[in-house]
Amino acid sequence: MIVVMKAGAARKDVDSVMDLIRELGLRPQPIFGAERTIVGVVGALDEEKAGLIEQLESFPFVDRAVPVSRPYKFASRDWRPGKTIIEVNGVKIGGPQLVIMAGPCTVESRGQLLETAHAVKEAGATILRGGAFKPSTSPYSFHGLGRQGLELLAEASRETGLPVITEVLDPDDLAACEEFANILQIGTRNMANFALLRKVGRSRLPIMLKRGMASTIDEWLQAAEYILAEGNSNVMLCERGIRTFETSTRNTFDVNGMAVALERSHLPVVADPSQATGHRYLVPPVSKAAVAAGADALIIEVHPDPAHAKKDGAQSLTIPEFQKLMADLKILAAAVNRPLSMQDS
Ligand code: PEP
Ligand code: MN
Repeated sequence: MIVVMKAGAARKDVDSVMDLIRELGLRPQPIFGAERTIVGVVGALDEEKAGLIEQLESFPFVDRAVPVSRPYKFASRDWRPGKTIIEVNGVKIGGPQLVIMAGPCTVESRGQLLETAHAVKEAGATILRGGAFKPSTSPYSFHGLGRQGLELLAEASRETGLPVITEVLDPDDLAACEEFANILQIGTRNMANFALLRKVGRSRLPIMLKRGMASTIDEWLQAAEYILAEGNSNVMLCERGIRTFETSTRNTFDVNGMAVALERSHLPVVADPSQATGHRYLVPPVSKAAVAAGADALIIEVHPDPAHAKKDGAQSLTIPEFQKLMADLKILAAAVNRPLSMQDS
């Protein structure tokens, strides 16, 4: 951290800043300039010292205190320069191959789920998605089948051999989700639900953490830090679009943000072109953009009859559309040296 003193701060003012820094067990290193003095703070800032910025900025003669390292540790490339690879039933996310997760937004019925699961597997997906506990803007809309949805996901997983990713919405549902799923999804609306983040940080399952729809990349990585700090090192990030002034799309897929996350963190990054766009016709181009920009995986909504979907029908691909996209992705992934991960069977 660097403390910038106000122009004209007296030597005794600089001394009181240095005294505070020393009291915290850190080392001050002043640079006396012609107009201003700057004090460098040397040493690791742990949680108790995190309030130091506010404390320093409350001095009338301090202009600002500026952290020079990032506000997260375990999520950062400084902590682990290589890439984290998360293995789920033999599927490696973050490795050299591109992973495709696909399935319905929401589990609606046994028939809908099994038909979709078999079709996405046939087309080359290696992880099955499906929501049993669904977040909804309106309290009156469909909120998923709950535990029954989890049981259906487990059945589809047994039939197809595909591991399952599903959203955990409420800390009280964590045990049930852990019983039936292989990866837990934290949705955009819960990115800053710190109690939930801490709880999944103690889970044995990998976590896919979606970016809050109005969160900065540093806030997203600090949310990942909550999970990592509890001891769960299997965290993947998911860019699912952010809110902007644009109304033609549901959200704006932040390809910049995804590339920044890939640069700043060693955690695998998944792209969700379905929530990011809200429109079926935009899912293929945004999927391709994400793969070209380095996404480790895609998560795509597919429905056998989107016109009658209970949730997110407008952004769900039909089965033939998904098959076509997979054929295109096979070529694109090879071109960017990221061949598609396929099941052995
Ligand atoms: C979803 O994946 O269906 C979903 C609700 O995602 P998000 O949290 O990104 O809106
Ligand atoms: Mn959805």
